Amino acid sequence: ADKTVLIVYAHQSPKSFNCAVKDAAVKTLTDQGYKVLVSDLYAMKFRAAATADDVKGKLKNPQHFLYNEEAGLAWKEGRLSDDIKEEQRKVQQADLIIFQFPLYWFSVPAIMKGWIDRVMTQGFAYTLQNLYDNGLFKNKKAMLSFTTGGMESMYLPDGLNGDINVALWPLQNGVLRFCGFQVLAPQIFWSPAHTPDDAREALLEAWKTRLQGLQDEKPLSFAPTELFEL
Ligand code: FAD
Repeated sequence: ADKTVLIVYAHQSPKSFNCAVKDAAVKTLTDQGYKVLVSDLYAMKFRAAATADDVKGKLKNPQHFLYNEEAGLAWKEGRLSDDIKEEQRKVQQADLIIFQFPLYWFSVPAIMKGWIDRVMTQGFAYTLQNLYDNGLFKNKKAMLSFTTGGMESMYLPDGLNGDINVALWPLQNGVLRFCGFQVLAPQIFWSPAHTPDDAREALLEAWKTRLQGLQDEKPLSFAPTELFEL
């Protein structure tokens, strides 16, 4: 069967560089025969906050609401809110998930963090037995693709902001690797607002070329889970 890519996309403006990067991915991947799904989070007005509204029906413990437990149970019983169910169906179909966003405070924008908090439900995305190398999504790949305000030199190990890989650890290890995803190297567009127009075009061309070879890329390596006692 054809492979499916889900692009989880967070930018408010269709004129943005992020939108151009997303559109280039949709076109390049579709041309290669992938089925491409897009979750345009701002257009969807995706709710960021993980609350009791995510659970339909009776709460197990309304006196002390515990999101993990209630959402996990609701997932098992098909009682999660419709917007979460819809995103989980897309995740299930996807062989690769691309997160496309502008870097906000060394991380994803709140709306995308909300997607992670609400869609990566306990039971659906991980269990205590299914983590890292044994993760539920070990047959799927994931990748961060983002733009920055800061220049590359500021994100070197001896740069003003420190090593970008340190900033990416919570997302690449704490979220993606934790759920078992094979994590592809991040695609970083450094400071597009301070890049001349022709150089920006070249960045988009390089992105398309990378996407054409994506299926042959080796994922990043992480410490094998067997080295750790749980
Ligand atoms: P845009 O400004 O939309 O685009 C840049 C340029 O590309 C524009 O001139 C646009 O016209 C042009 N363009 C659009 N489409 C095309 C096309 N098809 N071809 C060629 N050119 C095109 N930055 C950091 O480095 N670290 C942080 O921690 C950080 N935190 C932030 C927190 C917040 C709350 C906010 C709002 C910003 C933060 N930033 C940070 C900055 C942010 O990451 C950048 O502003 C953002 O990444 C720029 O991407 P953009 O898509 O919005 O660029």
